[in-house]
Amino acid sequence: MRTRALLAFGLFICAATSPCQSVKPAATLTVIRAGSLIDTASGELKKNQLIFIRGERVETVTDGSAAIPPGAQVIDLSRATVLPGLIDSHTHIFLWGEDPAKGGYDANILKAGIALRAARATFAAKRSLEQGFTTIRDLETEGAGYGDVEIKQAIEEGTIPGPRVFASTRGISSTGGYPLEGYAPELQMPKGVQIIDGPVEARKAAREQLDHGADWIKVYMTHRSWVDKQGRLYSQPTLTVEELTAIVNEAHGWRKKVACHAYNGEGLQRALDGGCDSIEHGLEITDAQIAQMARQGTWYCPTLAVYFTDWAPADTPEGKRDRARANLHEVSFGKALKANLKIVYGTDIGGMPWTDSMAQEFKRMVDGGMPPIAAIQAATVRAAELLGEPGEVGVVAPGAYADIVAVEGNPLEDITVLEKVKFVMKGGGMFKNDFDAGHCGTSAGKP
Ligand SMILES: [Zn+2]
Repeated sequence: MRTRALLAFGLFICAATSPCQSVKPAATLTVIRAGSLIDTASGELKKNQLIFIRGERVETVTDGSAAIPPGAQVIDLSRATVLPGLIDSHTHIFLWGEDPAKGGYDANILKAGIALRAARATFAAKRSLEQGFTTIRDLETEGAGYGDVEIKQAIEEGTIPGPRVFASTRGISSTGGYPLEGYAPELQMPKGVQIIDGPVEARKAAREQLDHGADWIKVYMTHRSWVDKQGRLYSQPTLTVEELTAIVNEAHGWRKKVACHAYNGEGLQRALDGGCDSIEHGLEITDAQIAQMARQGTWYCPTLAVYFTDWAPADTPEGKRDRARANLHEVSFGKALKANLKIVYGTDIGGMPWTDSMAQEFKRMVDGGMPPIAAIQAATVRAAELLGEPGEVGVVAPGAYADIVAVEGNPLEDITVLEKVKFVMKGGGMFKNDFDAGHCGTSAGKP
């Protein structure tokens, strides 16, 4: 009797939490009634639409007057604007902020063991999903090895909630090209990335990372940066063209792509000459480099927001550097827009705390001159293209994964409403529905 009561209690708990907390698709037909739907492929806002979902995918999208078969589960989002699940193309689930007061970057590696780091990454994965980012390209683990591949595995097997993860594992730089640094030379300090010197080591690192499940390879093409005596931002280059070419050649052979962290100058030039697929940050891109990116079809993931916050005091070298970076970045972003470069949405979150909003980059992009629909496309269809997943994610269309989010208000009129995503579905499984408090409550919405 007691066992039965416990069992019943257990079932009750399951029934009460599973519709929002699990990302398992419903077995039957689900129909979402959307007040407005942003068609990211065409850029149009469509009123009163029905989205038919079977299993983990969208079956059809029709006009609101279409008949709903009896027995279908209907989700009423008629007061909402519905759009595809968002994609952040630059995250670090294993990075826990870089606040100097909390030990800065180094504390991530020196003070946290692998279990703590995995727990934090688990939190990050959930944060991503509850904010409507149903897919991420996670650009290296900052010394946590192949942990991203395993977090991805835990999400895929349903052990923890989280987005679809495109993992890049360890990252690559050269000697003198990545922290930990500044310690006594006698000490063998761990590094936040895999260090290589020479094309042979470069290719070997790429092979190892690809062998262990990297979906992308992340390379650092610049490292330290400062404002020189002439007042110009200077960035120390890292890998040579030969080293990068070996990595790109190897990755492309596996049908994988290479993301290059590059601020400006020689390092950014080597990234382009070495055939990088995406430039990360790109604080200062010359006109010739913009033209080269257009010619080569290079993606640009600017990650603006992270460079516009937490500046050091104005009269310090760090403060000067921080301000120079942001000024140049704005100009480069404007040039990229004008040249119609392929731009994707990325936050670099992890560098800023995972409690921060992942949607804050939208406002930066729009303030920088990007039309709201283009910013949304950068976080949906365009990112899907970058990831080699067009038609699978980034659209609400027949055959795509049912990765769907909804907000109150119209993001085309006020982009900041994306900072308050109230409904999240991933692969047909509803994770959160704050439009229907009686159904799913608000429990999933708080970090
Ligand atoms: Zn980053």
